Amino acid sequence: MKRTIYLILSVLLPLLATGQRKVKQPAGIDRDPLAKIKAEAVAAVDARKDQAQQINDMLFSFSELGFQEQETFTYLTTLLEKEGFTIQKNISGMPTAWIATWGSGKPVIAIGSDVDCIPKASQKPGVAYKDPIVDGAPGHGEGHNSGQALNIVAALAVKQLMERDKIPGTLMLWPGVAEELVGAKAFYIRDGYFKNVDACIFTHVGDNLTTSYGDAGNNGLVSVKFNFEGSAAHAAGAPWRGKSALDAVELMNIGWNYRREHLELTQRSHYVISDGGDQPNVVPSKAAVWYYFRERSYPKIKKLFEAGIKTAEGAALMTDTKFTYEILGSAWPGHFNKPIAEAMYNNIRKVGLPTWSPEDQLLARATQKELQARKTGGLAMKLDSIGLPAGTAPTMIMGGQTFVPLTGGSDDIADISWSLPTIVLRYPSNIPDLPGHHWSNAISMATPIAHKGIVAGAKAEAMTLLDLLLKPEIIKEAWAYYTNEQTKEQKYTPLISPKEFPAVYLNQKIMADFKPKLKPYYYDPTRYKTYLEQLGIKYPTLRDDQRADLEKIKDNKEPTGK
Ligand SMILES: [Zn+2]
Repeated sequence: MKRTIYLILSVLLPLLATGQRKVKQPAGIDRDPLAKIKAEAVAAVDARKDQAQQINDMLFSFSELGFQEQETFTYLTTLLEKEGFTIQKNISGMPTAWIATWGSGKPVIAIGSDVDCIPKASQKPGVAYKDPIVDGAPGHGEGHNSGQALNIVAALAVKQLMERDKIPGTLMLWPGVAEELVGAKAFYIRDGYFKNVDACIFTHVGDNLTTSYGDAGNNGLVSVKFNFEGSAAHAAGAPWRGKSALDAVELMNIGWNYRREHLELTQRSHYVISDGGDQPNVVPSKAAVWYYFRERSYPKIKKLFEAGIKTAEGAALMTDTKFTYEILGSAWPGHFNKPIAEAMYNNIRKVGLPTWSPEDQLLARATQKELQARKTGGLAMKLDSIGLPAGTAPTMIMGGQTFVPLTGGSDDIADISWSLPTIVLRYPSNIPDLPGHHWSNAISMATPIAHKGIVAGAKAEAMTLLDLLLKPEIIKEAWAYYTNEQTKEQKYTPLISPKEFPAVYLNQKIMADFKPKLKPYYYDPTRYKTYLEQLGIKYPTLRDDQRADLEKIKDNKEPTGK
């Protein structure tokens, strides 16, 4: 017996003496200082888990639409100021835009993410069916409440290591204001805020942990409001004396919808009538229609836009009205940097996907069922591969044209990606296969699903920041790719001119109406650990029929994961 104890001790003691750290770390880590400091960054992110959750839940509760992100602005800039960042406010004349910098010298790394939410998307988190916090209010039905939490936690983890080891470099945090209106980033570029930046890491919510390089396969767009002007008259007493601006809007839309059949399949165009007159008995002297014209390349966007102007001219001729137009936003199609994406993806593989709990999966699967999603297997269980350039993806031939699988959406991060080496990190805070820009996309966004996705993303980002800071050759290669491949034939021409200004008045009225109603629901982290706890939501909340439905298919072999 004594001998056995002696044997056990003789095996265990040296292990204990050499320290636990060695047991946790992968082999060879001591010989690779970069691997060692990356492991420290991962631990530092883990230590900031609660902070990430708080930032995420706070922004979720503010629910602010584009250009009206005032609470978000105050909260984030105050937080970063306390952490030692220097804040530059009102960037490009936008009251809610800011840049926070820390550190000194090269490289300068910009770290950004969007902050605005979606109209009428208010939704209680953790509830697998439609249940708004405030009926009709804006809500984070895309998940833009999460990216700043990820970026801040990653940046603070890296900052503490830079301070300790005296690593030179500048971290520059910034928000994508009014991304849903593609209203800010082209102005940041035009006004020179990214002039001295060496690389940009952008984060966007997704349902897997991944990144991509090359042509992102999405559309760019120009957002244009057409303002028609006619003359008013008594709509019954003297309609012949009136010239209806609303008629012009309707005829423009009809004209566009006829033309649509003869446009390339890659285009996406849509409109809302933002002013349809005041009341039926007054011939509308003023009316406006707001279009997004989306296409795959700069020349095609311009062509589509010109077709829109012609259609407006036609409508004005038919109604004897006049029109003007104003550009409210713009975005190029995205193109992302290969060397930085590859560095990021190497780190992603080391981090892997979060471990989902049965509760996380239950919420995800019930939500997918509720929304009749094609995928019903819940959250991602397998890491996505790195996203390849759209041009190298499988093609199909139709009517003499070659098509690649495309996504119709846009993001003005593209204007930054055409100005300096940029990548987008996507992280798994949302449920796969939901409609997007929809209340259901808010369901996971203040739950453990979002929180775990952010932490996984922050680890990959922190590791990549260290790559950029400590391996100067990556930035060199990134610029070589940018100069010799990306922009060799295609140069960036902004869709906005020096005379455009950010449309900061947009959403003012809606936010003024809803802010007092949302305020009682702002998250209070001094009293509640999580926003779910504050709202008193049992995680997850399902209806009985949703539970029964999932029970039924439990034994059937359904596809799992993504
Ligand atoms: Zn977005």
